[in-house]
Amino acid sequence: TSSTGTPPTVARLSTRDDAFEQRLGALLDWEGVSDSAVQARVEEILADVKQRGDAAVIEATNRFDRLAVESMQALCLTPERLKQAFEHLPGEQREALASAAERIRLYHERQKPGSWQYEEADGTVLGQQVTPLDRAGIYVPGGKAAYPSSVLMNAIPAHVAGVREIVMVVPTPDGVINELVLAAAHLAGVDHVFTIGGAQAIAAMAYGTQTVPRVDKIVGPGNIYVATAKRAVFGQVGIDMIAGPSEILVVSDGQTDPEWLAMDLFSQAEHDEDAQAILVSWDREHLDAVEEAIERLLPTLEREAIVRESLGRRGALILCEGRAEAISLINRIAPEHLELSVDAPESWLEEVRHAGAIFMGRYTAEALGDYCAGPNHVLPTSGTARFSSPLGVYDFQKRSSIINCSREGASVLGGVASVLARGESLTAHARSAEYRIEK
Ligand code: NAD
Repeated sequence: TSSTGTPPTVARLSTRDDAFEQRLGALLDWEGVSDSAVQARVEEILADVKQRGDAAVIEATNRFDRLAVESMQALCLTPERLKQAFEHLPGEQREALASAAERIRLYHERQKPGSWQYEEADGTVLGQQVTPLDRAGIYVPGGKAAYPSSVLMNAIPAHVAGVREIVMVVPTPDGVINELVLAAAHLAGVDHVFTIGGAQAIAAMAYGTQTVPRVDKIVGPGNIYVATAKRAVFGQVGIDMIAGPSEILVVSDGQTDPEWLAMDLFSQAEHDEDAQAILVSWDREHLDAVEEAIERLLPTLEREAIVRESLGRRGALILCEGRAEAISLINRIAPEHLELSVDAPESWLEEVRHAGAIFMGRYTAEALGDYCAGPNHVLPTSGTARFSSPLGVYDFQKRSSIINCSREGASVLGGVASVLARGESLTAHARSAEYRIEK
């Protein structure tokens, strides 16, 4: 509580505080999906769709999205319908969407890995073959808000990867269809759209129904029903990740306009009450100025209430000792989004080990990356940047290894395999290898 008695909007921390580690730990702590009531309901829906297919999907959709449809026909959108949505958009929106799609496509083209092979002296060839998935399923949330940019970010890498068929699901509660979402699906090369959502949509894509084709991998964010269902079907199909709330960590050297920084923090906090926005600097007066800008600009926001709640729950302005400590905080937090609002950010890169996306310099607002810079905005959250990467073309491809032994190569390798196989008492292995050894 500040001297005036009003609680500050956002916590001020210093790495010198005795309880710093503990407070930081509490801020970063995030409980994933775990709710037994939700779990039970999701399992029921999954089992029902697995058993009864379309009929179960229709029933659940009518119930949870408040529709009254009688057939799956009413829940399918044709490619012509998607094209229409694109063509009927206001010009400015059509151009912005097309420009974003083109930039995202160009960036992801660079990610396409090639297959490779090499030949050994005896003629044996070894290699790796990259193959796109046959069918990918994209979940687009549609309950509380619609995100056309997420359609582009999920479907374009799949398309660039060469996925043969892209299925998209998006719920339309009360029958409300978002035309921008359909237009984005058209631009991104989606083949089928079903207006279904929740656990029933995940089940339909994981198991297949009379109408919805079974997919090989499901990607895309969603609410707790969607996340719980994705976790449950993992293994039968691939999934991208289980995403937690969105986060940003901004590091400032004190030279960036405090209003810019306040707005960058808000842009994350406005996502939802659990989103996390943290600013780190070694300049105490600068942190004061950002705090002042936060209080001044907050009342001008459309989503003021959500931002206040989010900053209050999980936000922080952290005073550190200098660059080295800032870098150690970055690597400790492993943020989804990292803004390096400093001079010569390139010189920081080598030391930044864990971050989903790195926004370099004062001009690179996270918002530019969210929509249109080109890189993917589906990023690892909750510290998972320690071991995972942004959604990309590689998520829609898999690798097969290639072994092609020459007669001579089989003879040499047969000797090695035979010894190891006999050591494991697997004699059929050993004899299979020995047949091919030239006497
Ligand atoms: P949603 O599409 O995820 O969920 C809507 C569906 O939930 C409905 O169709 C319904 O089938 C199901 N459902 C709702 N209540 C139910 C109940 N009581 N029982 C069974 N099923 C029920 O849309 P949403 O609810 O708006 O959630 C979207 C989520 O996605 C939010 O949490 C948002 O933060 C997140 N999101 C994340 C990103 C990201 O990049 N990380 C992007 C966009 C959205």
